[in-house]
Formats: sequence, C-alpha cells, structure tokens
Amino acid sequence: MLSKQELLAYAKRSGIDAVGVAPAERFRDVEPQRNPLSIFPQARSIVLCAQEIPRGVFRGTEEGTLWTRAGRLIGAHYMYTLARFLEDEGGVAVPSSPMAAERWPEGVVFRTGSVAPNVYPDLSYAMVACGLGEIGYCGLLLTPQFGTRQALGLIITDLEIEPDPVFTGTVCDREQCAKCAAACPLGAIDTSKTTDVTICGVTRTVAEVNRQKCLYCPNGAFPDTTYSEAMPNRLTAACGRACLAHLDASGKLEHRYATAFRRREPWGLDLHDI
Ligand code: SF4
Ligand code: SF4
Repeated sequence: MLSKQELLAYAKRSGIDAVGVAPAERFRDVEPQRNPLSIFPQARSIVLCAQEIPRGVFRGTEEGTLWTRAGRLIGAHYMYTLARFLEDEGGVAVPSSPMAAERWPEGVVFRTGSVAPNVYPDLSYAMVACGLGEIGYCGLLLTPQFGTRQALGLIITDLEIEPDPVFTGTVCDREQCAKCAAACPLGAIDTSKTTDVTICGVTRTVAEVNRQKCLYCPNGAFPDTTYSEAMPNRLTAACGRACLAHLDASGKLEHRYATAFRRREPWGLDLHDI
C-alpha cells in the first residue's frame, strides 16, 4: 500500500499542495453519471488534489483593479505529472479535471448497463469523501488550509493508497456567518431556502443559490467556458471574496498571512449601478 506521506511527496513534486484519499468503496453508491468508478470500475482509490490559488488572484477583483479568473480546476499538466508518478508505482492512474456538470451527458449509451458520455465526477462529494474539506453554506468548496482558494482535480487509480478519514470538521460558520449571502447585491443566495446535503454520513446545510442571477453577476463571477448555462465560477465574485475575507480574518485557515485579505470596502456594483 502506498503511504499518504509518499503520495503527498509525489503531489508536491507535481506542483499540487494537498491530497485526500478515499477507498473506492466510499463511492459505490454515487449516481453512475457522476461517479469516478464509472470511468474506472477497477479503481481502488480516489485521490482528490488541491492546488492553492495565490491570494493575489483575488486581490485585483477585490480592489477593482484587475479582473482575472481564479481557475477552479487544476491544470492538466500537474494532474498528468502526478498520474505518471503513480503509474511508476505500478498502478493505472486516470487524471480527471472535470468540466461543468450541466454540460453532460451529451452522447448515447453504447453498451447496456453503461452510462452516456461523459461522466462528470462529483467534486463536492469527493471533497468530503476524500477528507479534504466541506461544502460551504454558499455552495463553494472550502478546505481548512486555504478556504476557497484552491483548484481541484481527481485521480482515479487501482493503487491501494492509505485512506484519509471522511471530513467531519467545520470550516464554514453557516447561519452564524452568512457573509456570502449578505455580500451579494443581487440577493442570489437565499438563506430562507436551505437544503441538508449528506455525504458519507456527514450532513451540512447549504443555502439555495439562484443560478440565473449568478449568470449575470457583475461582481467578479466568470462564465464557465465549458458550458455557457453552467453555474459560473464564483471564486472571485462578491460572495466568494466575502467568504475568503471572513475565513482569512477568523484565523481559522492553516495558511495565514501577515496582512489581511480585505483592507477597505471591497469594490463592487450595486443593483442600481447595473
Ligand atoms: S456569483 Fe454574484 S450573483 Fe451569484 S451569489 Fe455570488 S455575488 Fe451573488
Ligand atoms: S461566508 Fe461564512 S457562511 Fe458563507 S460560505 Fe463562507 S464561512 Fe460559510
């Protein structure tokens, strides 16, 4: 069995900052269309990778000086490199940086009992199942290391790797915080409508987010380039930055800075400006 330490060493050499591992059994009940085991049924381990996004990527939008995209998915090169290391250990390793869930399926089932292409692994599920973090109140994925500031990628492998426990910690302060909802001038995060999401026995409350409003967000959201109707990338949007500012100021995150993320009223357009 590959130890977690060995995996982390390979990940660091690949430019990946954190990894969480789930044995394949934790994914057996996931819907086939969103299950990494539909891609590689013989897999024994699912590895979720996180790559820290520099805080500077968010600061430009925060100040209204530079609009840039904080990529939600780890670049293919990094995932490819880690997959190569894992295959040198004798396994098969499938790197996956899934595109928008809303885009799929777009093909036909070509074999009885199979699923239509393409399979989009559920990264929210993987976040908890692989022990890396949780779903925040506003639907963004949060880790104790970086809060909202990570890109994600998945490796599906038949190597047996030392697993992590399911994530049972709390990064998000939910109703007691709700700063993500308060920061949205369009009122797109409705705290009166919530859903309890249960993953591997861990339940978290998530507020309803109005995708139609987010598609027209003028405050730092970026369209998903893989599917125009998909929920946009909200990492640098007003909601995502409010969350980052809150977690940064709370001192909860493992990666701390000498300076605050939020230094003045954030730049933003109000409803009447649009
Ligand atoms: S992306 Fe924009 S519209 Fe959607 S919740 Fe965030 S700030 Fe509001
Ligand atoms: S702003 Fe607060 S309530 Fe919203 S996701 Fe972040 S920590 Fe959770």
